[in-house]
Amino acid sequence: MQILMARSIALVFICGLAVPLNAQTPAPAATVFQNVRIFDGKVGQLSGPSHVLIRGNKIERIAATPIATDRSADTVLIEGSGRTLMPGLIDMHWHTTLVRPTAAQALSADVGFTTLVAGAEATDTLMRGFTTVRDMGGPAFGLKRAIDEGVLPGPRIFPSGALLTVTGGHGDFRQRFEVPRIEGMPLARMEQLGASIVTDSPDEVRRRAREQMMQGASQIKLTASGGVASPHSPIDVVTFTEGELRAAVKVAGDWGTYVAAHAYTPASMQRAIRAGAKCIEHGQLMDEATAKLMAEKGVWLSIQPFPEGFEQLLPPGSVEREKMLEVMTGTDRAYRLAKQYHVKTAFGTDIIFSPEWAKRQGSLLVSLTKWYTPAEALAMATGTNAELLAMSGKRNPYPGKLGVIEEGALADLLLVDGNPIEDIKLIEDPAKNFVVIMKDGKTYKNTLPK
Ligand SMILES: [Zn+2]
Repeated sequence: MQILMARSIALVFICGLAVPLNAQTPAPAATVFQNVRIFDGKVGQLSGPSHVLIRGNKIERIAATPIATDRSADTVLIEGSGRTLMPGLIDMHWHTTLVRPTAAQALSADVGFTTLVAGAEATDTLMRGFTTVRDMGGPAFGLKRAIDEGVLPGPRIFPSGALLTVTGGHGDFRQRFEVPRIEGMPLARMEQLGASIVTDSPDEVRRRAREQMMQGASQIKLTASGGVASPHSPIDVVTFTEGELRAAVKVAGDWGTYVAAHAYTPASMQRAIRAGAKCIEHGQLMDEATAKLMAEKGVWLSIQPFPEGFEQLLPPGSVEREKMLEVMTGTDRAYRLAKQYHVKTAFGTDIIFSPEWAKRQGSLLVSLTKWYTPAEALAMATGTNAELLAMSGKRNPYPGKLGVIEEGALADLLLVDGNPIEDIKLIEDPAKNFVVIMKDGKTYKNTLPK
């Protein structure tokens, strides 16, 4: 027995398990934010002076008068001094594992390296005030688990797993010499990684969609049109057949969730909507008829503001950069149509292959003020985005209300040094202006004087 114990202790040290597994500070029993003004994720103005009690991982009480606590040692008081308390930000189009590496690294590096880089990025994402991301394709299941189990700090992740594509579709990163594909051939690199997977029939779509659900996907992501960053996939191409799309929609529906379809053009958007997709990713090249159809059917538009210079994510002179510029020309019109027809619109960034742009995640939100008031932009990135997250139904990995400050909601909160409705540019400098960052009731950052 003793030998056995000695052996297992040795094993613990060899494997490095002696390092505390929980890298987070344990949550206090209660935290009280005193004297804050609240942006609740819905209403376009701040509340009067308020006090907010967090117990466990939820917002228990919001009051206009000081909240009496039992003052036990594990109650933390945070003096807000009139600062703004707002919900944590949500990015609806994120690729946790593709943000930092270059495209070449993503396809050539070993999984361990890729995952560790993604972990470091996840911590930075949280420190930028993004407490939730919806992962729109990539091997995010392990990272999500590690974050949820407290191995490292990071945002909540709503994972799609591998995105589904077709031969030559967006996300098919194979080289020309890798076709023709014969039944029984080994999977391509991107498929082995769980980044994207080629599916060329309703049967294959069903199997691959179910594989993502089995691993814990909260929604299915597929690419219904060509895309920017893929080598063999012109933007104008409509990829999946309606039958294939319906197969994915059926699987997602059977699991109580939905399909989010990447699509830029009216033809691809309309086919995906006809097949039952509940959310269109991108949509920058949509036309009036498609905007009307989306409004009529209550389909979400998860669009990104792609600011000037965003094409620099892609190599100079490349076809990919040309495609990005083509898509970017449609951004302004798409936002205007979405507003005109009251299409349900979500905010995301789709930053990939660039740690520099990742630092500007909040700036992309600020750039929405080209079309929306600051309060509307902030509400989109919090309360509205959370409505789309809730479409995952029972596959929602974090049951509870996100994106709002109300009693009973999950405690994902930012304390902002200033009023972001009056000065939304505060969001651009999270290191300076987000003085407290809380996720799930735990404080990950507090720079207020003790
Ligand atoms: Zn994307």
